[in-house]
Amino acid sequence: MSKHIFVTGGVTSSLGKGIFAASLAKLMQGRGYKVTIQKFDPYINVDPGTLNPYEHGECFVTDDGAETDLDLGHYERFLNIRTSQANNVTTGRVYQTVINKEREGAFLGKTVQVIPHITDEIKRRMLLLGETGEYDIVITELGGTVGDIESLPYIEAVRQLQWELGKGNTLVCHLTLIPFLNAAGELKTKPTQHSVKEMSRNGVQPDILICRTEKELDMEIRTKLARFCNVDLDCVIEAIDAPSIYHVPMLMEQEKADITILKKLNLPHQGGSKIEDWLTFVHKLNSPHQKVKIGLVGKYVELQDAYISINEAFKHAGVIHQCKVEVVPIHSEELTPENMHETFQDLSGILVAPGFGDRGIEGKIDAIKYVRENHIPFFGICLGMQCAVIEFARNVLGYKNAHSLEMDPNTEHPVINLMEGQKDIEHKGGTMRLGAYECEIHENTLAKKLYGQKTIEERHRHRFEFNNDYMAQFEAHGMQATGFNPISNLVEIIEVSNHPFFIGVQFHPEYKSTVAEPHPLFKGFVEAALKYQENMLLKEA
Ligand code: GLN
Repeated sequence: MSKHIFVTGGVTSSLGKGIFAASLAKLMQGRGYKVTIQKFDPYINVDPGTLNPYEHGECFVTDDGAETDLDLGHYERFLNIRTSQANNVTTGRVYQTVINKEREGAFLGKTVQVIPHITDEIKRRMLLLGETGEYDIVITELGGTVGDIESLPYIEAVRQLQWELGKGNTLVCHLTLIPFLNAAGELKTKPTQHSVKEMSRNGVQPDILICRTEKELDMEIRTKLARFCNVDLDCVIEAIDAPSIYHVPMLMEQEKADITILKKLNLPHQGGSKIEDWLTFVHKLNSPHQKVKIGLVGKYVELQDAYISINEAFKHAGVIHQCKVEVVPIHSEELTPENMHETFQDLSGILVAPGFGDRGIEGKIDAIKYVRENHIPFFGICLGMQCAVIEFARNVLGYKNAHSLEMDPNTEHPVINLMEGQKDIEHKGGTMRLGAYECEIHENTLAKKLYGQKTIEERHRHRFEFNNDYMAQFEAHGMQATGFNPISNLVEIIEVSNHPFFIGVQFHPEYKSTVAEPHPLFKGFVEAALKYQENMLLKEA
């Protein structure tokens, strides 16, 4: 039977529950345990696929095509495991299941209620991954903050599961904030006391307190927290601000969080966590030998979390080259042909980001014209690849009003077309081409060189595609389609031949980059940017 660890949050949101869960799982993994993490989100959307990135950050996509919370990205990047639909559940999904059952008549005339029907469905889903027999430990992160009305059924489900599974088989970690009050010159424990009281009122007593703080917790504060929150002294774990998310597993290890938790779960805890590769990664991340600046052109750049997988993939790839990749956010709405030179002059590569809708699209297209003509390394992802196709059609093929049908349904040259299977779809939720599909790469191409293999599998999230009717014109003028879906013939990769590094992909490579396995396209792109930078320096000298 799997052991279940629940991670809840108190006092404020954004304390980093996902990073804590992933870090703890990393330490457990380093001790030989098989661990997975799942996230339960209290909002009513069935999944975050319909949420604007400004609302909820990036939507992460799994191999099985689930549109999920961005924390699943952290889980995959830290643990180098694949997650799935089962790893992310929302209130919307829970209610949808219960309501569908009610319509089928499965409740036999009973009144359907939050308790027991909604909580039963939550519990069923909380136990699912553990029942596969694949995992020793399942960590369940509860989204939201204790005290939120919508969190109540989840806390109640945890309460019931603790009773059902018995002591020693479940454990609750509560993440909380210990604010430092400048005026008083001290750390304050009261918000945490209130938060724990709130949980206790709902029948759940946290076992472990993970205390987010900007200053070290001294023994006096630790004792106070333990005494007033009713936990053992060694269960007060300091989680001090870290230089990067990748440092958190080490901080948790220093605090012996893994040992304390394993002991409480009656699991062997002798020896240490073997995370040498991780330590090497963090060491290299801390001590880069060189630096390179890459522009990220997108329309959600104000929000850090909107392109989180891309930003993390750059860190992974940077470490391979012992190089700090500084990702410079560039708002595509602010780009014009006139300010292009000024904006790009000290950048050594440009990534044009995924996206939907026409806001900022012309800035992206202008940016691609500039980098193509000036031989600056270019990497386009999904909409970024589609923009590269539009730009090439307009400026090389001479189809002045070429466009994507997404932006201009009446365009004379729809070089980006709506996929056949999308034409009759009206509902927006979960209906894109989602998840992992195969791609066959042609020989003697940049993509083949970077991947080093002919058949790859990458994840998708789109409705539009390269219009194969225009293929011959593109190829005759120097833009090649170098990767295809072997079944549908859909173009997955495009390249421009007389350019040092120009690649666009219809899929999302960023979702598959992990600390243990940085993505080949990001590695290659960073390498190309370094080469470009070197050449520029030589020219200047
Ligand atoms: N909007 C484009 C499409 O639906 C690209 C999607 C994306 O960038 N994820 O095809």
